[in-house]
Amino acid sequence: MSFTLAIVGRPNVGKSTLFNRLVGKRLALVDDQPGVTRDLREGDARLGPLRFTVIDTAGLEEATDESLQGRMRRLTERAVGMADACLFLIDARAGVLPADEVCADILRRRNAHVILGANKAEGRAGESGLLDAYALGLGEPVALSAEHGEGLDELLDVLTPLV
Ligand code: GDP
Ligand code: MG
Repeated sequence: MSFTLAIVGRPNVGKSTLFNRLVGKRLALVDDQPGVTRDLREGDARLGPLRFTVIDTAGLEEATDESLQGRMRRLTERAVGMADACLFLIDARAGVLPADEVCADILRRRNAHVILGANKAEGRAGESGLLDAYALGLGEPVALSAEHGEGLDELLDVLTPLV
């Protein structure tokens, strides 16, 4: 049985950068169901020896009439429904913002299996945000740098028992 990981979080935390890093060129499909916007991207991820399906909650950046909070709620809930676990990314440089709390609430309410990732944690700029992340009460954050490919071994350690 194949394992599906959804990458969720507010815009600009690095979801698509991490998605692209996990998927490489193995982008399987975009959401092409009729009447559905292309707001969830699905790909075949590879991380060390692991193979799994990864979902990027894209579509949060689009300018629409719907509020960001509404879109986050709708897309995150759809992603949770499709996934075995959610990788909830925050921006370690920005710390925990209200939009992150919105996302955290959805994940808690849905009883999702959450892996907390503090992205943009390369160098020292992410240290305080990493501490902030503990306060979300979603477990120990994995320090990541999607852009620089850091923290992927730690992510592998957390995912291995699940996949
Ligand atoms: P998304 O909106 O959550 O999908 O975020 P994106 O993947 O589009 O990234 C938003 C911005 O953050 C882009 O300018 C990325 O280059 C940048 N970014 C992504 N990952 C990292 C990282 O690990 N470190 C730093 N410094 N910037 C990053
Ligand atoms: Mg994106």
